[in-house]
Formats: sequence, C-alpha cells, structure tokens
Amino acid sequence: MKIPLDSKGVSMHDYYTETQCSWCDGCGDYGVWTATKRALAELGIAPHNVLLCYDVGCNGNGADKINAYTVHGLHGRVISLAAGAKLANPELPVMAFGGDGASFSEGVGHFVHAFRSNYPITFVLHNNANYGLTTGQSSSLTWQDQAMNTAPNGMPEHTLNSMDFVFSLEPTFVARGFSGNIDQMTEIFKAAIQHRGFAFVDILQACPTYNKFATHDYLLEKCHDISGDGHDTSDFAAARALAVDTSERIATGILYQREDLPDFYERLVPRQGKKTTAVDEVEIQSVKGLCKDFI
Ligand code: SF4
Ligand code: MG
Repeated sequence: MKIPLDSKGVSMHDYYTETQCSWCDGCGDYGVWTATKRALAELGIAPHNVLLCYDVGCNGNGADKINAYTVHGLHGRVISLAAGAKLANPELPVMAFGGDGASFSEGVGHFVHAFRSNYPITFVLHNNANYGLTTGQSSSLTWQDQAMNTAPNGMPEHTLNSMDFVFSLEPTFVARGFSGNIDQMTEIFKAAIQHRGFAFVDILQACPTYNKFATHDYLLEKCHDISGDGHDTSDFAAARALAVDTSERIATGILYQREDLPDFYERLVPRQGKKTTAVDEVEIQSVKGLCKDFI
C-alpha cells in the first residue's frame, strides 16, 4: 500500500486526544488502542491521512479517544462503511474495528462478503467472547454452557468455530493477537495495513467485567507467538490447522497471507486506467430542480 508522502516524523503523541477513556480497568481495549496508535506512528501515517471506522460496542467508544478521522457507525455495519470509504479514496489507509457480537451476528453478512470481495482494508476483531457494552450478553463466541447475564443457566448453543469459518471464506490475510501483547499487535497491524486486500486480525481480548472464562491470565498462559517457529504463512492448510486447534495452545502472529490476488478495487473495470479517485470526481450539484418534483 502506498503511504501518503507528507507523513514524516509522526509520533504516537500526534494521535493523542484529551477525551478520557471510559473502559473498565484491565479492559483489552486499552491494548488495542495503544497498538493501533503505535503501528500508525511507526508506519509514518499522520492522523489526517488515515480513517478509523468503529462499530457499536465497547471498542466503538474508542472513536473519540484517538485523534484521527474516525467514524462511529451502526451495529454490525462497520465493514461496509470502511469499504465504501476506501473505494472512494483508495490512497487512504482504512482500519475497521468491531466486536465478536457485531461481526458474527448482526454484521455477519458484511463480514462474509468482505473476504469474498478482498476489500483493501484492515479489520480488527475485538474478540472478548461476549457483548460487553450491553452488560455481558452471550455472543456466538461465548463458550458453550458458560453462564452469562442473558443465559444464567449457561449458553445452550454451541460456540461458533470462528477461525474455521474464516478460513472457509478463502482469506488473503489472517492474524491473531492478544490484547496483552502490544508489541506483537503493533507488528501485526503494520503488516495488515500494508496488505494487498482484506486483512483480518483476530484480537483475543480480556473483558474482566463480564468474561470470567477467557481471562487475561488465561490468555497470557495459553497464547503462543509462532513467529519463531518456522511457520510458512503461505501454507493454507497448515495455517488453518494452527488457527483452529486451540486445545493445547493458541497460536498468535501472522498465520496466513497471500498477496498474489488483486483486491476489489483493482478488479473494478470502470476504475481501471483512471487518474482520479471517486472523491476527486465529486461535484457539487444543485438539487433544487429535483426537489421541485416533490413539493
Ligand atoms: Fe472492556 Fe468488558 Fe468493560 Fe467493555 S465491559 S469496557 S469490554 S472490560
Ligand atoms: Mg464482544
């Protein structure tokens, strides 16, 4: 991805805003928020040269906690917002953030087609295995039989195998991180932002207020950084097996990547050969004549 040229000398401080964070103590949102700012600064992307799109959820309350262009959209719709902005201005790095509830229930349709389309955006899944903002409802990724506020006798449905689902969608970039490992998340985000196509990043995130099963300590113990293991990130079958089998340990890092496939924008025939982007072509038109028909 081409990084905008007027972005030299960027620091994390450029992303600072005085708006106070409202997340609970120990929330994994702090880690993702910090790694996002760090990744953007280390890539030399200035706040005015990036768009950060937030879904509804605790993570979405980060939209005003970072000094950049941000959009806080409707529940489950963040991918469509982000993809639309990117297609209008393909030079702009675009990141989208959404939770496990929104991504695998309300917004699952958008989620599926983002992989099919290979939109050139980064999607960060805040995976805390529950709906935190609505006070501990079970989501598709809550562990089966786990008692939650909306399932006091234990969640009766089986847990969606999210990584197996993701790999069934023929992804071009899959990574997994842990909200307690900011160094690793930073490197993953930097790679994701520069990926050619749809970059899916699953962040296993602590929610100490409502998730009493996959806690920070549990994730700290179980997550394993595969970067030194000689894993071949172009090996689809090996990556899928690593991603899905979490029985002994949870593999983290970049699991799979291919960059030989064109992204959605590159496939758009009407845009091919154009020297301008859609945002360059916007013209202010008077709608007075149109309105007359409705008065
Ligand atoms: Fe974070 Fe959970 Fe609190 Fe939401 S409810 S702010 S996800 S700890
Ligand atoms: Mg959640």
